[in-house]
Amino acid sequence: MSSYLEWMLGVLKEAVELAGLPHEVYEYLSKPDRVLMVKIPVRMDDGRLVVFEGYRVQHNNALGPYKGGIRFHPEVTLETDIALAMGMTLKNSLAGLPYGGGKGAVRCDPKKLSAAELERLSRGYARAIAPLIGDQVDIPAPDVGTNPQIMAWMVDEFSKLKGYNVPGVFTAKPPELWGNPVRIYSTGYGTVVAAKAAAERWLEGFEGKVVSIHGFGNAGQYAALWASRFGAKVVAVSDTSGTVYDPNGLDVELAIKVKNETGKVVNYPKGQKLQDPDASLYVDADILIPAAIENTITEKNAGKVKARLIVEAANGPTTPGAEKILYSRKDFVAVVPDILANAGGVIMSYLEWVENLQWWFWDEEETRAKLASIMERNFKRTADRWEKLKAESSRPVTMRDAAFVLAVERVYNAMKLRGWI
Ligand code: GLU
Repeated sequence: MSSYLEWMLGVLKEAVELAGLPHEVYEYLSKPDRVLMVKIPVRMDDGRLVVFEGYRVQHNNALGPYKGGIRFHPEVTLETDIALAMGMTLKNSLAGLPYGGGKGAVRCDPKKLSAAELERLSRGYARAIAPLIGDQVDIPAPDVGTNPQIMAWMVDEFSKLKGYNVPGVFTAKPPELWGNPVRIYSTGYGTVVAAKAAAERWLEGFEGKVVSIHGFGNAGQYAALWASRFGAKVVAVSDTSGTVYDPNGLDVELAIKVKNETGKVVNYPKGQKLQDPDASLYVDADILIPAAIENTITEKNAGKVKARLIVEAANGPTTPGAEKILYSRKDFVAVVPDILANAGGVIMSYLEWVENLQWWFWDEEETRAKLASIMERNFKRTADRWEKLKAESSRPVTMRDAAFVLAVERVYNAMKLRGWI
């Protein structure tokens, strides 16, 4: 079993017990409702036919339509996709959204595809999963390796199949095609809103705090940008090409420009270049934002992390084994878990979906303010519950446990009311 799925199940089991719910809740949620495996034959530019493998996992829809992104990544497996879909059920529940959880994936390396090949693959995947999705059924969005252009191709393909426009079937579309302009930066922005709330509660404020960011895709770039806009000092960012480090603070806008123009953050012209992409995890910092993929901070390297606060922009970057090591440090404050910290993406997807269903659009400031207040409220609820659980429980309780407890309780209540359990 993929270690990610294995440890997610462990945390889920623990949360069901902590919440005092019957074990059958764990049995129910440990398996997805439905898994669709598809093949996507794509004619490559050189004439070859390549048959890609993809999935759409629908985990649970007690609270509403399945909702969650689509990952294009060379190492993605069905089991990882199941773990990610389960994570979406919990994330959407914790965020208070009227959604269940789902996730899709295609095993491919999008960096190695031409734009035309990527379009054919995206349209092929949308056609393949079309029988199972819809704006009232299952609503995909981007995840690692996918973006608004891909959503535009997919929504076009789906709409053609239906014979009319269905804007609400995919979220995080370009603003020119029924998307909301906040969605592109909402995951990174929301992560920083959570980091700021955590720093204000536990580190005497966010301004002037030293921040390091691991992973410089969509979430990492916008987390860096908003952290610096909110007055923190971003000293390190990294991607697979390596880490750039400047103890006096990086010019984040320049780092983003360099990354997007050259594909590699190490082409940043100032500061120090460190070859190890993971060096950003270990630099001197108050706050570490892991923004790449799962299983980044593990038992093997958690001892090298110096930050007092970890705020997860990625899904599943810190394993429970790593958390044990981190929390055993006297100065360590918290891992603000993914299902809370990176929910800005799906919360904004929800607002975009509401706009799409009504054909009525809010302006950027208004939607960003809505997003920030939902993030702040959810942070407070989770931190309060964590403190209460810690006071009541004889065993160690992490902030992730508290987030899972709140999330599972809401899904349980919906399932109970429906008579499913
Ligand atoms: N892929 C993102 C996540 O993991 C966003 C999902 C969405 O917007 O539906 O939360």
